[in-house]
Amino acid sequence: MDSTQAPASSRRVRCPHCGAFTVYSTSNPWRPFCSERCKSIDFGAWASESYRVQAKPEPTDFDDIDTTDPSAGPGSKPH
Ligand SMILES: [Zn+2]
Repeated sequence: MDSTQAPASSRRVRCPHCGAFTVYSTSNPWRPFCSERCKSIDFGAWASESYRVQAKPEPTDFDDIDTTDPSAGPGSKPH
């Protein structure tokens, strides 16, 4: 048992963005972030990241295989 454990009211967590320790309580409106700046930056990064993934076109690898393949002679693939 650790008697030196901090009370739950002053629990400290690491800011997900910069890694700085911050108080995770109602006194910190930006929890679990350390500041409004970190919160907005992290949220903005998350939003732009998801947007980028959505806008990213799917790589059509199978398209390369289906193009003129010399090893695929006539009859090997029913047309
Ligand atoms: Zn931070």
